[in-house]
Order: sequence, then structure tokens, then C-alpha cells
Amino acid sequence: MKIAAFLPELLRHLFKKPATVDYPYKKLEVPKDFRGTPILKPELCIVCRACVRDCPAEAIDILTENEAEKKYRMIIHNDRCVHCAQCVDSCPTDAMFMDMVYENAAFDRHALKASYVYVRATVKPKVPEGTKVPEGGKTPAAAPQTPQTPQSPEMK
Ligand code: SF4
Ligand code: SF4
Repeated sequence: MKIAAFLPELLRHLFKKPATVDYPYKKLEVPKDFRGTPILKPELCIVCRACVRDCPAEAIDILTENEAEKKYRMIIHNDRCVHCAQCVDSCPTDAMFMDMVYENAAFDRHALKASYVYVRATVKPKVPEGTKVPEGGKTPAAAPQTPQTPQSPEMK
């Protein structure tokens, strides 16, 4: 085949804008509802353990640090997390949200653990729309929640 047959195509591509991004020097914006890393807002966590129960990857642990002081430690095992955001949906107080981080890698998988020590919050869990709460009665199960404002995780 003659080289001349390719020349027009070659010239066309030489001056064309690249279709790919020059990563890691340039980065693409992730979509609005991108599911990055699960992050805890400790000041909103009532230690109901719904996130622990519902996480399909068993990536969340809550340990008791001091029973009398209502102090707990949540560990999010980001090396096991499958980024499904179920913990966000299950949380009745908006204490969980997904950030926009997608470069989540380390040489040691344990370095990906995020650990939070905090005192149990006293905020009220959300009630599903249309549910009647009996006076002095227990609050019913919580409604699904939406992710919160993105923020960088603190890894330990
Ligand atoms: S995003 Fe999914 S896999 Fe990751 S901690 Fe939450 S529930 Fe578990
Ligand atoms: S579901 Fe929400 S409030 Fe309950 S333990 Fe998990 S983060 Fe805390």
C-alpha cells in the first residue's frame, strides 16, 4: 500500500485536538453524583450502626472506646469499600457522605483505613415523609439520605 494514501489522515490528526486527557498532569472533573470515598461527619453520628449492618463489603467497624463517656471509634476500611454509597443511604442523620476523590491508592492497604474517634451525637434521626411519630414513642426507621458536600478524607 502506498504511503501517500495515509498522508491526508496523518496530517488531519497531527493538528487535531487530542481525544484523551494528559493524565496525571491534567485531570477531568468527575460528575456531580460521583461516588468517591465514604466520609463520616462524627458530629452527626448517633452510633445506630445502620451503616455497619448494611455495608455489603463489611468495610465499616464501630468500636466502643469508652462506654461511660459514649466515646466510639469508627473505622472505614477503604481497601474493602466498593463505593456503593449504601452507608450514605442507610444513615438516618446525614452523618455519611461520599467525596469526589478517585485517586485512592497506597502501597500498604492498611494505610487506606480512615479512623474517627468521637462522642456519640444526640441529633434526631430523620423520619420518612408521611410517617406519624407517636407522642413520646420511639422514632421510626430512618428515610434514605442524599450525599453531602464533598470534602477530603483524613486517612490513618
Ligand atoms: S460505600 Fe458501600 S462498600 Fe463502601 S463503606 Fe459505604 S456501604 Fe460499605
Ligand atoms: S448509620 Fe449514620 S448515624 Fe448510624 S452509625 Fe452509621 S454513620 Fe453513624
